[in-house]
Amino acid sequence: MNFSELGLCDELSQAVADLGYTAPTPIQEKSIPYVLMGRDILGSAQTGTGKTASFTLPMIEILASGRAKARLPRSLILAPTRELAAQVADSFEKFSTYHKLSMALLIGGVSFADQNAALDKGVDVLIATPGRLLDHFERGKVLLTDVKILVIDEADRMLDMGFIPDVERIVGLLPPLRQTLFFSATLSDDIKKLSDKFVSNPKVIEVAPPASTADTVAQHLTWTSPKGKREALRSLLNSEDVKNAVIFCNRKRDISTLVTSLKRHNFSAVALHGDMTQSARLEALQKFKDGEVPLMIASDVAARGLDIAGLSHVFNFDVPGNAEDYVHRIGRTGRAGKSGRAFTIAAGDDDRKYVASIEKLIGKSIPLVDGDTPVAEAKDAPAKSKGKAAKAKVDKSGADKSGADDEKTTTAANSNEKKADGERGGRGRGRGRKAEAHPGELPPPPDCKGDTLHDTGHVPAFLLR
Ligand code: AMP
Repeated sequence: MNFSELGLCDELSQAVADLGYTAPTPIQEKSIPYVLMGRDILGSAQTGTGKTASFTLPMIEILASGRAKARLPRSLILAPTRELAAQVADSFEKFSTYHKLSMALLIGGVSFADQNAALDKGVDVLIATPGRLLDHFERGKVLLTDVKILVIDEADRMLDMGFIPDVERIVGLLPPLRQTLFFSATLSDDIKKLSDKFVSNPKVIEVAPPASTADTVAQHLTWTSPKGKREALRSLLNSEDVKNAVIFCNRKRDISTLVTSLKRHNFSAVALHGDMTQSARLEALQKFKDGEVPLMIASDVAARGLDIAGLSHVFNFDVPGNAEDYVHRIGRTGRAGKSGRAFTIAAGDDDRKYVASIEKLIGKSIPLVDGDTPVAEAKDAPAKSKGKAAKAKVDKSGADKSGADDEKTTTAANSNEKKADGERGGRGRGRGRKAEAHPGELPPPPDCKGDTLHDTGHVPAFLLR
C-alpha cells in the first residue's frame, strides 16, 4: 500500500516521500480513506503511530480547493498543550509544502499580535489550544462559523486536564454540519460517552489495544528508598549507555530540584514543565532535540506526545500514580521500530500499589534490574557507580558530591499541580474550567514518609555489580 492508493494527490505523496515515509502506518491506512469520504472518525491511537498525518494529510487534500476569508478559518485542530499544537503545526507545514494553504497556530505564551495578523489574512487550518482560542474569540478576533472540519486531538488528555468545558463551548460555536475527527490514546467508556457529544455516526478506528506497551521498549524496575532515588538514578545513568533520556517526575517542584542535583553531579540536564514560559519551554526542548543537552527532566503534561527522534532511554524518577501515564511515558522511546530502554525507580508502600496497577494494566510484570531485589523497603542506595562512562554526563572532572545531596523531604503533593501544568491560555480559572481532581491524582509523595524509614544497610544488588 502506498499513499496515492489511499486517495491522496501526487503533491501529498511527494511531500511524504520527501520526509522519507515509504508506506502509510496502520492508522493512516485505516483513517485516510474515511476522512476523504467525509466521515466522522473516532480514533484510538497513541502518539508515535503516525496519527498526526492520518488527519492532516486528508485535511490538506480536502482543503486544497477553496479559499479562506479573513478571521473565518476553514478547519480547526484542537490540541491540549502548546507543545502538541506546535508539533501538529510543524507536521502540517511539512505536509503542505506543495500546497498553498495558510495556517495559524494559537497557543498561549506568545504574543497576540502575530496571531491576530495571521487570522486577519484568513486561514485554512487553525491549530489551537482551547484556552487561547477562546481568548481570541472573546476579543472578537476569530469567528468559527466557517469551520468545516474539526479535529479534537488527545481527547483523553483534554478530559484529564479539565479542558472539556472549553472544548464544548468551542464546538457550540461551530456549524453543526461539519466533519469531526476525534482522537484519543485510549477509548475508555468515559471517552466514548464524551465523543458522542461531538461526532456523528463515526467510523471507529483502533490501531493499538489501549495501554499496550511497545515490544521495542525494554522495561526495568528498581526498588530503593525514597531518600535513595537520586543516587539510584545516577547509578543507572552511569551504568546505562544513555544517548538521550527523558526523566519523568510526578511533581513540577521536584523537577528543578532534580535538575540542580544532576548538574551538581556533572550531568547536563534541562527542565520541561508547564510553569515555564513558552519561550523557555521551546528553548529547552530545542536544546534537547538538537542533542545539546542529553537529559530532559519533565512532567507528564509537558512531555505528553512529544516526538523525540531516537530517544534511547526513559526514566521514571517517580512511579506515576496513573497507570496509563506509565504507558505514555515509556512510549517516548522505542519509537519507529527503534529499540529503547525504560527504567522505573520505585520506593515506598504507595509505589508498590502503583507498580501493581501498572503491571495489571500492561498485563505483565516489569522485570527487576538485574540482581535487584523485589523489596519496596530497600534502603538508601550507596554511591557505587559501575564506572561505565555515561554519554549523558558532560564533565567527569568534578568531585562526586553524593551524600551532600540527600533527598530533601517534600511536603504533601498539591493535588492540582498536575492539572495546572497544562495549557492555561491566560484565561481566568473561574470561567467554566473545572477544578476537579485528575483521575490519576497524585497522593502524598512517598518522600513524606522519609522519617519513618530505618536504615538497615541494605544495598540493592545492581549497585554492587
Ligand atoms: P505521530 O504519531 O503523528 O506523532 O508521528 C510519530 C512519528 O512518526 C513522527 O516523527 C512522524 O514524522 C513519523 N511518521 C508518521 N507517519 C509515518 C510514515 N508513514 N512513515 C514513517 N514515519 C512516519
